[in-house]
Amino acid sequence: MVETLSQKPAPTLVEPDDRFAQRASRQPIAGWGNFPVEQCEVYRPEALADLQEVVARAPERDLIPRGLGRSYGDAALNRDRGVILNHRFDRMLGFDAESGVLHCEAAVSLAEIIEHFVPRGFFFPVTPGTKFISIGGAIAADVHGKNHHTNGSMGEFVVDFRLLTASGEVVSCSREENSDLFWATLGGMGLTGFVIDARIRLLPIETGYMSVQNQRAANLDAILEMFFESDGQFAYEVAWIDCLSRGPSLGRSVMMRANHATLAELPAKWRSEPNVFKEGIKPTVPFTFPGFALNAWSMKAFNSFFNAIHPNASKVVPCDRYFYVLDQIHHWNRIYGKRGVVQYQIVLPTQTSREALVEILERLSSANRGSFLAVLKSLGPSSQGLLSFPTQGYTLALDLPHTGRDLIDELQQIDQIVLRAGGRVYLAKDACMRSEDFVEMYPDLDRFKAVKAQVDPEQRFSSSQARRLGIVDAT
Ligand SMILES: Cc1cc2nc3c(=O)[nH]c(=O)nc-3n(C[C@H](O)[C@H](O)[C@H](O)COP(=O)(O)OP(=O)(O)OC[C@H]3O[C@@H](n4cnc5c(N)ncnc54)[C@H](O)[C@@H]3O)c2cc1C
Repeated sequence: MVETLSQKPAPTLVEPDDRFAQRASRQPIAGWGNFPVEQCEVYRPEALADLQEVVARAPERDLIPRGLGRSYGDAALNRDRGVILNHRFDRMLGFDAESGVLHCEAAVSLAEIIEHFVPRGFFFPVTPGTKFISIGGAIAADVHGKNHHTNGSMGEFVVDFRLLTASGEVVSCSREENSDLFWATLGGMGLTGFVIDARIRLLPIETGYMSVQNQRAANLDAILEMFFESDGQFAYEVAWIDCLSRGPSLGRSVMMRANHATLAELPAKWRSEPNVFKEGIKPTVPFTFPGFALNAWSMKAFNSFFNAIHPNASKVVPCDRYFYVLDQIHHWNRIYGKRGVVQYQIVLPTQTSREALVEILERLSSANRGSFLAVLKSLGPSSQGLLSFPTQGYTLALDLPHTGRDLIDELQQIDQIVLRAGGRVYLAKDACMRSEDFVEMYPDLDRFKAVKAQVDPEQRFSSSQARRLGIVDAT
């Protein structure tokens, strides 16, 4: 049974009201990549009844929910239209220690969940490379972690959620109840409605530490071989690739594999407090760097440094240090300067991965388009989410400094390699895919549109990304 948060009845849909617009704050906002930046009308409803009023009365034609803004591109943007922050839906509502099921509102962040529940012996079951995302954002992107090959994506751990739809109705969704809407919302990028709250199954852990094994790989073949060999042995696997390496070193990497450490694996000094949650002191990037600070030379230097400080070794580290390397520096995205960064993440089927990865890495390397952060992971079977990203194979994520139209053209050409290989681009990272390529990459798009047409025939929920990709009409 889903608890009721508000006893107030849902208001009936009324005509959009121009006076209501005064409630919105017009501001330029962006995703984590700082590209694109768009002027949006931003609403911040306080509670369910208020949210219902925004959906019913906001004069903007289109509205999109927004969490902590960690999607990179335009998924949580709505140029000249409405954005609804989920920030006030920030309560944890209940926890069943026996089943490990947490009931919380959509704005609760992974950071808060981990901080509260690691000391109680639970971890978030599927965690992205940052913990500063909201539950609403995690559901909308059906996020995956370094353990997709063993645990699948977010949807595997969502028991149910409540969704405010365009009509103002609150609908409970689970595998059994409104299951079409459940699977359209998981990965549906906020386009089916606003997730109010959810029940999530957490993962029991013995300690707050990770038992990590680092191993260098000389090139792409060596790293793919390592993924192949270790599948199943390690719950978590990720490789950092030096994407400026060339020739026989193309794809030079460091594999970082890990399991949650058992009590017996902890050094004696940590055994008295095995579930303590440790965060380091976090420096901040104080201002946006000038564009010239990042160039092929500094990236080459960084990649050599990264390789040098990761020798083959095994160690036990606090979980925060293994999972959230990037979170150790606040506002690290400022190093990319005012033009921002385009994060490009693709998945390629296992059979076609090697060939396509070589083509993509060679192309980037010869164009001197380095990425500070180039990450390779293996993904297990697809989720049932109609627009979910993960499919079986290898996923490559690159941070490419935004240089202008030339970068967008380059990525759209790389999209053709991805398409030929039978792969797809991740919507939570996308900022420049063409609609005709998107349609080919996501075969369940028509099923998604059919579910959306039922709950949102007027296309009240829409984003800049959804219009660019033709998920909704671009009027
Ligand atoms: C450093 C970094 C590393 C990352 N690593 C990974 C990774 O390893 N794996 C992975 O899967 N992702 C990864 N991501 C992407 C990130 O997990 C997703 O973009 C996630 O959706 C961000 O959540 P958010 O709360 O910031 O949502 P936002 O960015 O604000 O919004 C993202 C989407 O969620 C929707 N949304 C937000 N709240 C609601 C709501 N209440 N109801 C309905 N829809 C809602 C928005 O409309 C939008 O479509 C990474 C991002 C960063 C910055």
